[in-house]
Amino acid sequence: MLSVEEAIETLLRAAGRLVGVEVIALIEALGRTLAADVVAAIDVPPADNSAMDGYALRHADWVEVDCAGTGAEGTERTVTSPSLPVSQRIAAGSAPAPLTRGTAARIFTGAEIPAGADTVVMQEHCEEMDAGVRLLRLPERGANIRRRGQDIVIGQRVLSAGHRLRPQDLGLAASLGAARVAVYRRLRVAILSTGDELVEPGDEVGPGQIYNSNRFTLQGQLTAWGFEVVDLGMVRDEHGAVREAMLRAAREADVIITTGGVSVGEEDHVKNAVKDLGSLDLWRIAIRPGKPFAYGRVRDKPFLGLPGNPVSVLVTLLVVARPFLFACQGVADTSLHAVPHFAAFTREGGAREDYLRVRVTQAGLEAFPNQSSGVLYSTAWGDGLLRQKAGQDIRAGDRVDFLPWALFN
Ligand code: AMP
Ligand code: MG
Repeated sequence: MLSVEEAIETLLRAAGRLVGVEVIALIEALGRTLAADVVAAIDVPPADNSAMDGYALRHADWVEVDCAGTGAEGTERTVTSPSLPVSQRIAAGSAPAPLTRGTAARIFTGAEIPAGADTVVMQEHCEEMDAGVRLLRLPERGANIRRRGQDIVIGQRVLSAGHRLRPQDLGLAASLGAARVAVYRRLRVAILSTGDELVEPGDEVGPGQIYNSNRFTLQGQLTAWGFEVVDLGMVRDEHGAVREAMLRAAREADVIITTGGVSVGEEDHVKNAVKDLGSLDLWRIAIRPGKPFAYGRVRDKPFLGLPGNPVSVLVTLLVVARPFLFACQGVADTSLHAVPHFAAFTREGGAREDYLRVRVTQAGLEAFPNQSSGVLYSTAWGDGLLRQKAGQDIRAGDRVDFLPWALFN
């Protein structure tokens, strides 16, 4: 048996980017993988601006006119000062004039600090008067100013090639003025389900039949990962049909994924068709659920044969197939870092690495009572997977590896 790590490593060694580069509008780029670094061509913010609604002034001007004059510069203190005349009003988006000596400028959050001003006093600490503005509390010099480049400085690499764009990354790129980004074309993944017992939702299930759920799990997860799915539907276990479907998959997609029919000894035409059209390795991975797994090629396209059981499909897709698929998409870092959490249950370790469906509770992680690979409800019930290493006995209160669903995104 292969360990989970060995299976992933073997797949990663065989993996390489299978897609070219395209330049697309930033707004379309969510979930896409960057093909080039994003480097700042400007400072952000581009100029000093106000963090508050208030008054911008030259700190020294105020110290000069401060009647009390008791506090040293650099400390916040209560002052009893006369007013400064207000010489301009600077709204966000307007270009300020240099500040006239001995005056204050009315200023609003996000507005550019006028040349000559070095401090913003929040309006709550000011009193507006006919003659100008009186300051009740004097902040430190430089207070309430967001400095030019405090977020990003010109020349800074903010996102690297191989990074999958999240909403905050799109915002970051936009803050630099990037309207278009170079990304890798979406990986095209062909999926097909095998099994003569399968019926599509919408059709009636007869005796001995079940609904095809794997197609929907696969289609959903692959779409969520930003891949283009070539859905070949169900294929009957009949040599000609399977061969035809496999050839079409190899023509139209970059990677082929099937579910079902990879168990040892099973009478199955998928295995034969793959062998005929390319090459096939049947693996036994020390993972539960999901032991049988096939890896091969159909013509020149990589082929992943996931097990048939619905929970095995989800787990092997997330744990074993994901790093491979991401690497084919050009993603640089395909690793997963489990979140430490606490178990609220006791369970002996087995011979294989277990991926338990667990839920977050006040007491820690609770495991779904039935961990059978056929119980798909456990995946909807759960908040993620707990990785129980082979031979790892878990006792309530133990620190464990938690893999929330979001981690796999
Ligand atoms: P297999 O790996 O083909 O022996 O399938 C293992 C189990 O998973 C069997 O109980 C199958 O009925 C079930 N199964 C296989 N494919 C699907 C599918 N697409 N949807 C739901 N269950 C499936
Ligand atoms: Mg089958």
